[in-house]
This record gives sequence, C-alpha cells and structure tokens, in this order.
Amino acid sequence: MLHSVPTGTHTHIYKKIALFFKFWCPALLAALIAANAWASLDKDDIASHLGTHYVVGEPLTDLAVYPIFLPNNNALQGKPSFAGYAFQTADFADVRGFSGKRMNILVVLDPAGNLLATELVQHVEPLFARPGTASVLEDFTQQFENLNLRQGISIGRWSETLDVSANSARLTGVHMGTITVKAITRNVIESSMAVAAAKLDGTVFASFSAAPAGSDWATHWHSRQVEIVILLSGLALLVVGLLKQKWVSHTTKRLRLIRSLYLLFTLGFIGWHAQAQLTIVNVAAALESTKAGDNLSFFLSDPMTSILWVFVGITLLVWGRGTFCGWLCPFGALQEIMSGIARALGVRHIRIKKRVDTQLKWVKYALLAAIISSIFWFPQHSDLLSEIEPFKTAISLFFIREWPYVVWAVCCVGLSAVVYRGYCRYICPLGAALAIGGYVRLWRWVPRRNECGTPCQTCRHGCNYDSIEPNGTIAYDECFQCLDCVATHEDDKKCYPLVMSNKRPVTYLHVEGQTR
Ligand code: SF4
Ligand code: SF4
Repeated sequence: MLHSVPTGTHTHIYKKIALFFKFWCPALLAALIAANAWASLDKDDIASHLGTHYVVGEPLTDLAVYPIFLPNNNALQGKPSFAGYAFQTADFADVRGFSGKRMNILVVLDPAGNLLATELVQHVEPLFARPGTASVLEDFTQQFENLNLRQGISIGRWSETLDVSANSARLTGVHMGTITVKAITRNVIESSMAVAAAKLDGTVFASFSAAPAGSDWATHWHSRQVEIVILLSGLALLVVGLLKQKWVSHTTKRLRLIRSLYLLFTLGFIGWHAQAQLTIVNVAAALESTKAGDNLSFFLSDPMTSILWVFVGITLLVWGRGTFCGWLCPFGALQEIMSGIARALGVRHIRIKKRVDTQLKWVKYALLAAIISSIFWFPQHSDLLSEIEPFKTAISLFFIREWPYVVWAVCCVGLSAVVYRGYCRYICPLGAALAIGGYVRLWRWVPRRNECGTPCQTCRHGCNYDSIEPNGTIAYDECFQCLDCVATHEDDKKCYPLVMSNKRPVTYLHVEGQTR
C-alpha cells in the first residue's frame, strides 16, 4: 500500500505570487507600452547629427528617407550635388538586442552602396547604458562607415582589430556585447538593403544580394558548433544523472565526486569559456519582446544562451528551479566551490533561524520586482540595478573591473563561505524568477518516506539549503537539487527508518509515488 505524504502548505509563496500579479503586472504593462516607443529623428535632428558636411533635403513621400547633398562651395549660386539617402534603421528593421527593446541607427547610403555615415542614436542596452560604456557601442557602429554593401560583413572577437579587404570586412566585436552588436549589424544591413532595393540602380543592388547573408543566426550557430556539441553532451549527461538519481547518490562519495566535476564544467566551460551565464536581463528582454508582439528570435544570435534557456524551460516543468540553480548556473557553482573550500579550511556555516530565513527569502522577490520595473520604467538606470547580479563581474569579466563591482561580487561569493549559497537563497532575482516559474513543476521527484518529518528529521538537518519543511515535505521553490537528501534516503546507516528496519525488519516502509 502506498501512503501519500502531504505536500505541505505553500501559502507564503502563493501570497508572493498574488502580490506580484496584483501590484506589479499592471504597472509592467503600462511601462512596457512606454518603453516600446522610440524617438524618431526629424530633418533638423538629422542635420545636426550629420553636421555641416551635408545638406539635408526634404523627406521623400514614398519612402522614409531624406536625400542628402554635398554643398557646392565653388560657386556662389552653385547647386549642391546629390550624395545619397539618410534614413533611420528603426523605419526599416526591428532587430532587438540584449534588452529586447528597439534601437535606432542613423545611416547615410550613397548610390553605389557605400555607407557614408552610421551613427547609433538610440538604444537602451542595459550593459552599455552608463557613461563610459555607451561609447563602446558607438565606436562599434562607426566601423560601418566607408564599407560597401557588396562586402561580406562579419563580426570578429573584441580582441581583434578591424580587417577590411575589397570583398569583406571583419569588424572588431564588443566584449559582453555579442547579442547587441549582432543586432546593430543586422539593423544596419537589413535597412540599407531595403533602401537600396527601393532607390538604387537595379544592377548595383543585384551585386549586394549575395553579401550581409552572413549575418543570419544559422551562421552564428555554425561558427560555434564545437561548443554547442559540448554543451548538449553536458546537458544530456545531466538529464541521465537526474533520471538515475539513486545511482548517482548511492554513496555520498560518489555524489560528491559527480557533483564537483559537473560544477567545475559549469563554471569553467559554460561560464568562463562560453560566456553563457543566464541572467535576469534575459527574462526582462523576453517579457518586453513578447508584449510587443515580437518573437524571441533575437536570442538565436547567441546559441549557447538559447540552448540553455530552452533546457531550463523544459526542466522547470519537470524538476523545478533546482536543475538550473543546482547544476547549471556558473555563479551558483562558484559559490558552492567557495563553500567547499571554506569548509575544507574549517570554516563553519551559520545556520539561519527558520523565522529569519523565511523573511530573508522575500528580499530576492522584492529585488526581482524592482529590477523588472526599472527596466521598463527607467531603462537608463536599469543596468545599475541589474548589477545586483554579480554575474557580469564574476563570470564575464573575471573580476577585472572597477573596484566597487569587484567588492560586491567578492562579498556575494564570500557570503557562501559562512551562509551556504547565501546569495542564491536571499538575494538572487533570477533565482526568484525561476522559483516562481517552478510552480508549474509536475514532478515531486525527491523520494520520501512516511517517517520523513515525524519522527525523522535527518534529511532536513542535512539540507544545506533549508528547503525541507519540519513536516518532511520539500519546498521545491527553494530546492537546489543537490541530491544530498536522496543520498541520505538511500543510506541504511543514516536514514532512520532504514536503520530501524535493519534492527527489526518490518513491512511499513514505503516510497511515495513519483507523479502527482
Ligand atoms: S539563485 Fe541565482 S546565482 Fe544562485 S544558482 Fe540560481 S540563478 Fe544562479
Ligand atoms: S537536500 Fe535539500 S536542496 Fe538538496 S535535493 Fe534535498 S531538498 Fe533539495
């Protein structure tokens, strides 16, 4: 006979969700509409951007372009000569970057397909909104100047220098800006091709067609095929391991070894090498793009991130947040490794009292609401708030950054030495978003016995994440899928009912069903 174990009350979480939807969603919807607007340039704006080098004519009636002329300084009444067309990319293309919001680039295209000017005039990319970082994208955009649409244009690494030949151009990339610079490139090329198709000579346009093809997402995936294979193999191994959780955790030693190796893979390969740390900014970008009626195709520019989000989306349904937070988050892995080192050095973890622990867990939900709100209401400030996530400092920039960011990141990692995964449990807004998303989880996958909670508290005391309730049920929104309790459940020297049954065999042991 199978006994069902009570799932426990999650009233406090339901309250959090109700609060979120009641107060934040209406505000978000209003903000989404506002944030989706972009400022169109008029004739005077364009003239001021282009300076005295060009004279800007009246806009054409059949296409959103402005004819541009070179002033004739040689004759008093000299007629200006036609130089090309000025236009805004936002009128012709809508490729979104990391923020998921529109960007706008002023372009001047001459009749031969030369890009005479390219200036980034509007964006809210969160990693490049602060003074000192905004110029990085402006410099990137200016690299298109004097290139021709016949040239195959590709983006190199940030450490490469601009390389231009007769038939191709390889631009210098931007560190941590892969999605953004690909969006800039596609906006420039797609809008220029649209204007060229409408306004340039047919023979000239025909020579362009074979060339920008290089900017589609398939090219990006092809260029990273080795990393994709490694990532997919790692994810497949993880799925097998989680399905075979009892084998993985058959002994504590085996579990420790497998988990340590996997966390090193996550930190070293997924994080530091492939730069595929998922972040709350991804979530905000997806929300806004969906609200605007767009698809999420901008994610495809970064294959590693795309694959991980699809995987996390699926596993959120099956196992909850734990699959990402416990196994695939590079910053989470870094904290756990730090925690292991501290423990090996004899540092003892502080166990936060249950009442305080419950209250502290609210902090991450409040931070999640604040970050998402700021992204839509005050996008110019959102990047600073998003720095609550130390992912960029610790994973993307290897702690090489201005000292306040480094201090914050070190504090978050260091916290884990004394409070196990303290940043994850109390501060992380992405963890909060995943915990909310995890409520669609279908599987109560942690094996339980009737004795869990009453009288046995062994698993609960052994759970470093405090995600087992006193009555023995699992708080899956806080479970990091470390499998420690599964190892205990299998250990006939630790698991109280097993210990007792070994002393005097009885028939009252039961494992709960695996589906609900
Ligand atoms: S809580 Fe945040 S930092 Fe921790 S593992 Fe999850 S996403 Fe990563
Ligand atoms: S020990 Fe805690 S965190 Fe780990 S799997 Fe069990 S309930 Fe989840």
